[in-house]
Amino acid sequence: MIPGPFRRFEAVIRHVCRTDDKAYPLHEPDLGEEERNAVDACLRSGWVSSIGPMVEAMEGELGRITGSSHVIATVNGTAALHLALIGVGVGQGDEVIVPPLSFVATANAVVHAGATPHFVDVEPDSFGIDPEALRKRLGLCARVSGGRVINQETGRRIAAIVPVHIFGLPCRIDEIRAIGGEFGIPVVEDAAEALGSFCGERHCGTLGEVGIISFNGNKIVTTGGGGAVLTNDSEIASRIKHIGTTARVGHRWRYWHDQVGFNFRLPNINAALGCAQLNKLSMLVMKKNFLLQKYQSAFDGFSDAEIVSVRQRDRWNCWLIPVRLQGDLQGQIEPLVDYLHDRKLLVRPLWAPLHTLPMYRGSPGGEMPRAEELARRIVCLPSSANLA
Ligand SMILES: *Cc1c(COP(=O)(O)O)cnc(C)c1O
Repeated sequence: MIPGPFRRFEAVIRHVCRTDDKAYPLHEPDLGEEERNAVDACLRSGWVSSIGPMVEAMEGELGRITGSSHVIATVNGTAALHLALIGVGVGQGDEVIVPPLSFVATANAVVHAGATPHFVDVEPDSFGIDPEALRKRLGLCARVSGGRVINQETGRRIAAIVPVHIFGLPCRIDEIRAIGGEFGIPVVEDAAEALGSFCGERHCGTLGEVGIISFNGNKIVTTGGGGAVLTNDSEIASRIKHIGTTARVGHRWRYWHDQVGFNFRLPNINAALGCAQLNKLSMLVMKKNFLLQKYQSAFDGFSDAEIVSVRQRDRWNCWLIPVRLQGDLQGQIEPLVDYLHDRKLLVRPLWAPLHTLPMYRGSPGGEMPRAEELARRIVCLPSSANLA
């Protein structure tokens, strides 16, 4: 027997996703003639690999969109985050503060950089790191000595804080940055999902020392696979560019490398696709905001779930549109998602909180009640721009 609230929840979503036989994925890329032409022109040019004019064009366009002085395009968002962490000095044996609610890549990049994730709980409005929890956590375990912040419980240096703008929702980055500043801990913003989102007047990913964006196939715009590092610090920018390009020392023909680098630069063919996609960004953000309004009015008066809202001063790209289950739907997330998948509405719950995954179970951090509560309550609705 199917509970009534499931049917009613489905009916609300069907105001936006019509009752036809089509499957409604969580997020589909918007690819058309422009993208085909851009990739075709790139193939004809012969410049398909990690050097080429489209990489520079895409970096320039990203700089214009975000207001970031330096942009370094990378093979994916995880690589961008890995480089960003190295760029602010994270290394072997360090700890990095991350939220338990994020895509697994956030914590993985910390480990790739030689460090250990240290989890600090989130707050229920933006789903990002809770500034109060952060302050409390640092107050409890951090000791500042010789300009270094040491976690007294583990003896390791706390080398960075990585706030994440989940679903493109701007988190409380100003407060987090201020706390980082008090302790002398740099902030690396994981804005992988937040292209087109702004905290006040500033683009997400430009409020910390370094920020990153992802262009994976499911993000608001895609290069197939790709990412970018954003920073206003020219020293960090040149360090990141250098180690991300096999640490090759510039010369017309000589192969000389002065350290162990990475092959992390974005290929030109992906950048060609990226340039075509970036041209559509403001149109996509507009459509997705319209989709949000459609969902808002559909959910208006439905008592068992509510659409999440953003702070007035911020601009949200509406990458994925989450609802919070309540009333009769509370505690029903798994059967509800199953029910909707059976009907080709491919909604998704949040990621499993990272501190519950086998490789991160023993990581440092306090209690994570709010992350665990949100994981039981949040469902992301089909959010493709073409639904608007
Ligand atoms: C997608 C994503 C990443 C990683 O980006 P990839 O391009 O998939 O490597 C990192 N953090 C968050 C929050 C993401 O959503």
